[in-house]
Amino acid sequence: MKYRSLLVTGGAGFIGSMAVRLLAEEHPDARVTVLDKLTYAARRRNLQPLLSEGRVNLVVGDIADPAAAKEAMTGCDAVLHFAAESHVDRSLEDATPFIHSNVQGTLNLLQTARELGVTRFLHVSTDEVYGDVTGAERHSLETDAFAPRSPYSASKAAAEHLVSAYHASYGLDTIITRGSNTYGPRQYPEKIIPLFTLNALAGKPLPVYGRGGAIRDYMHVEDHARGILLALERGENGQAYNVGAREQVNGLQVAEGILGLTGRPMNLLQFVPDRLGHDYRYAIDPSKLETLGWTRRWSFSAGLEDTVRWYAEHKTWFEGPDA
Ligand code: NAD
Repeated sequence: MKYRSLLVTGGAGFIGSMAVRLLAEEHPDARVTVLDKLTYAARRRNLQPLLSEGRVNLVVGDIADPAAAKEAMTGCDAVLHFAAESHVDRSLEDATPFIHSNVQGTLNLLQTARELGVTRFLHVSTDEVYGDVTGAERHSLETDAFAPRSPYSASKAAAEHLVSAYHASYGLDTIITRGSNTYGPRQYPEKIIPLFTLNALAGKPLPVYGRGGAIRDYMHVEDHARGILLALERGENGQAYNVGAREQVNGLQVAEGILGLTGRPMNLLQFVPDRLGHDYRYAIDPSKLETLGWTRRWSFSAGLEDTVRWYAEHKTWFEGPDA
């Protein structure tokens, strides 16, 4: 690892904690500080036993707070910026926290990175900035125009524009990654795969939007985190990189796969009114990251099996007092 001291924002969340575990396992000499507000989606236990062993330092604070950002970032040569409000359905209820964390928070981190002279700032974004690509033959490329359609994806697109502006205006060394829909252990059970899995395990219905036709490029969290770490090390200053598994899976296939793995009957499928403004297809081309040496390790079927097994063994991970 080129960087000796890293700040990981949102490191107590789903993908951020995977990146922290990989850093600790594969780069034990690097110093890792996590800045996290510990929202409903985060758990301290996502970072155990690293926290109790003193291998990771956790600063509990808001990325939009200049004092917290400065405290956590001082002495760091790289920033991996994961922290965000991340659930589309919540953004449809109230976009305000999304603007606070995803836009104001990102601006504050950029400002702090500039002041402190951070060597590299990696911003974790999403393929949702490209919008719905239903009907398009091709997969989205990094050079495509943005067309965000939910308050969540609009806030992520705004954040990206700020990152690009800090690169262009102040010469900040930046990398942007645009990951596809991610699943795996430790994801808060409001997103489709953990929600459906826990429902299936409890014998409850699986609420499928519309007729379950929305297509996503589902990627295992380990593949996503490895892609981000590779882009940090080998990415070219100022560039964006798609991170996707080249999978095309719809919601109905996800639900049927989970029912099959948990041995539950297909009559647990429950078709519910579609999400407002639902994007029907995301599909990205990860060739640019692949030229840096990244390749996915998990197929969807192996990754889903791994995930269902983990939730079956950790049904109460998100309940009760945190460790
Ligand atoms: P998550 O919701 O599991 O975790 C987000 C983390 O950020 C939590 O630990 C939370 O406490 C923290 N956080 C939120 N607001 C904060 C604030 N104001 N200050 C400090 N900490 C704050 O999300 P995730 O799925 O791990 O996503 C991580 C990043 O990856 C996000 O930027 C998201 O947009 C992006 N992304 C996610 C996916 C996906 O499918 N999950 C796909 C592509 C990109």
